[in-house]
Amino acid sequence: MSEIPVLAIIVPCYNEEDVIEKAFFELSFIIQALIKNQRISPQSYICFVDDGSNDKSWEIIIKLSKNKEVKGLKLSRNFGHQAAQLAGLIQNQADIFITIDADLQDDINIIDEMIKKYSEGFEIVYGVRNNRNSDGFIKRILAQSYYRLAKSLGVEGIYNNADFRLISKKIVLIISELKEYNIYLRGIISNLGFKSCCVYYSRKKRIAGIPKYNIFSSLNLAIDGITSFSIQPLHFITLLSFLCFLIAIIMSIYCIVVYFEKEIIPGWASLFISLYFLGGIQLFSIEIIGEYIGKIYKETKQRPKFIVEAQIN
Ligand code: UDP
Ligand code: MG
Repeated sequence: MSEIPVLAIIVPCYNEEDVIEKAFFELSFIIQALIKNQRISPQSYICFVDDGSNDKSWEIIIKLSKNKEVKGLKLSRNFGHQAAQLAGLIQNQADIFITIDADLQDDINIIDEMIKKYSEGFEIVYGVRNNRNSDGFIKRILAQSYYRLAKSLGVEGIYNNADFRLISKKIVLIISELKEYNIYLRGIISNLGFKSCCVYYSRKKRIAGIPKYNIFSSLNLAIDGITSFSIQPLHFITLLSFLCFLIAIIMSIYCIVVYFEKEIIPGWASLFISLYFLGGIQLFSIEIIGEYIGKIYKETKQRPKFIVEAQIN
């Protein structure tokens, strides 16, 4: 590790025409400073991955690629944030890789500290936000609940780390050999082991443009995160069935008592409640099982995780 490492900064972009140029200027400034201080090799670069944007993102990336420190990768369609990151990691050569969102909400000034940690022997350096002030109230509550739920279900993850992290070539090699289609990088990387550490920063608002994650896509990512790593939700169905069984016993005893006391069984209300209760639980259980079956279905087809349409530099 004594040699000066080549750094690749991977920036996934989906309809980011408003921010790419600004991101380039800021990141390039940091890269130049690091090169000057001999922290990284002069061959270091930024790779913008266009994840099937339908705005001018790709045209902007082509324009920026006149600079020697810019590379571009265009995916054939929108494959999603995690797949775009993966494409950027697998398709590039470097000694160290940093993934960062195009909107530069993450603090690029800690990149220096991340590289220092790498030179101390850490293979993974997580950029961890020290608060969630830049999120709205609902997003903050949901994110916190998700982390707690995921942890209780045995899904390892770094609290308040999203996708801003440094990983070494060794880690990228391991990731590139993974066969799974449902690639949830956040979880996979924190499950690999290896020497890792965190560098803290405070997250800012988006520099421009609109967030690409809405409440549904965030929820999907959350479900993906849990079901890619844990089968605890399936055990949860067993618990639910015990609960139903218990309620059924209590209801039976109640009906027998009422029958002997009043000689009538109060019918409709209890019947309807149990009908909906059981129906709801059954549908919920089918949904949980379905989520896993869907994952198996996608895995067996072995379709590509991303398709590269064009590459520049
Ligand atoms: N992104 C992507 N593909 C997608 C959705 C998002 O490559 O399908 C990129 C997006 O351009 C950005 C990053 O993922 O660079 C994070 O998106 P965003 O900033 O909207 O998410 P948030 O800040 O809400 O987590
Ligand atoms: Mg963002």
